Amino acid sequence: MSKRDYYEVLGVSRDADKKAIKKAYRSLANKYHPDKNPDNAEALDKFKEIAEAYEVLSSDDKRAAYDRFGHDGVNGQAGAGGFGGAGGFSDIFGDVFGDIFGGGAGGGQSRTRRGSDLRYTLELELEQAVWGCEEKIRIPTLVDCEKCDGTGAKPGTKPKTCPTCNGAGQVRMSQGFFSVQQTCPQCHGQGQIISDPCNSCHGQGRKQEYKTLNVKIPAGVDTGDRIRLSGEGEAGTFGGPAGDLFVQVSVKPHAIFERDGANLYCEVPISFTTAALGGEIDVPTLDGRVRLKVTPECQTGKLFRLRNKGVKPVRGGPVGDLICRVIVETPVNLTERQQELLRELAETMGEDSHHSPKQKSWFDGVKKFFDDIKK
Ligand SMILES: [Zn+2]
Ligand SMILES: [Zn+2]
Repeated sequence: MSKRDYYEVLGVSRDADKKAIKKAYRSLANKYHPDKNPDNAEALDKFKEIAEAYEVLSSDDKRAAYDRFGHDGVNGQAGAGGFGGAGGFSDIFGDVFGDIFGGGAGGGQSRTRRGSDLRYTLELELEQAVWGCEEKIRIPTLVDCEKCDGTGAKPGTKPKTCPTCNGAGQVRMSQGFFSVQQTCPQCHGQGQIISDPCNSCHGQGRKQEYKTLNVKIPAGVDTGDRIRLSGEGEAGTFGGPAGDLFVQVSVKPHAIFERDGANLYCEVPISFTTAALGGEIDVPTLDGRVRLKVTPECQTGKLFRLRNKGVKPVRGGPVGDLICRVIVETPVNLTERQQELLRELAETMGEDSHHSPKQKSWFDGVKKFFDDIKK
């Protein structure tokens, strides 16, 4: 069977740059991927053909050879580490998995690897989380080494194809019927060996650096929310894409407010005279003070709901409420005169439980409790 022209397979022109080739390959490989076309032999053949074409056209050396000598040019190389080699089809397959589906499955043979995702915990004040803000964060990250352009090889030198696996990254051990594929012990699956490592990064291709990022925090976030900054994670190895940075929000406890979803809660102490006679009190909200009318005979535990003074949730939905819980305070530091007035007040009220709405039912409850014990 005569092979189709690789450029034709990928649908790119002969002078297409690497980017265009990669783009064409990605969209085709995605379309014909076996996962999407189960039990479809034709799609599988297409997929192999696409992977083979990309393997050649994405490599400067192989592409040059192919341009000069056609399929013969690269088939000659194949014996020395191309398709017929130890890795064979699974090499290419693994690369596709790693490339399109973000690492994980298969992977391995290709030196190119996506960088790790990073997590950064950002502590915010409640106000910042509710209103949104912009924060500068400084994170340690691995970036491509500038000296060697991320190759890991000393400038002027190139990584060499691993002689043990011929660049496949895997070796096959045969025993009778069975053959077992293993990660190449010499290059640890990378397929290449750096004999002259870059001094600056010691052959890693990456270096640790600190970078400062501006993070926009949308209004309404809460503890546990994550903001993804795509491509701001660790640099990939040997030209692979960078990982993502996840900024994890953690909201500090607030002196006054407690948050539960979209609602805010706070406790408001009021004097016992205001509680008895009624009046107006100042209630704090996140956007300033609000006057709140207290009805006479207000008891501890009474809840006042201030509509829409809560939080607008980051994922949408109605604005929450501010719920204030009243606490009636017993007066302290009383003068002689004040104590006298209170005694006078107590006398006028006497034993009359009429003035204490909870007391009567409470005493009744206590009495019933002891009566029940006696029985
Ligand atoms: Zn090897
Ligand atoms: Zn380097």
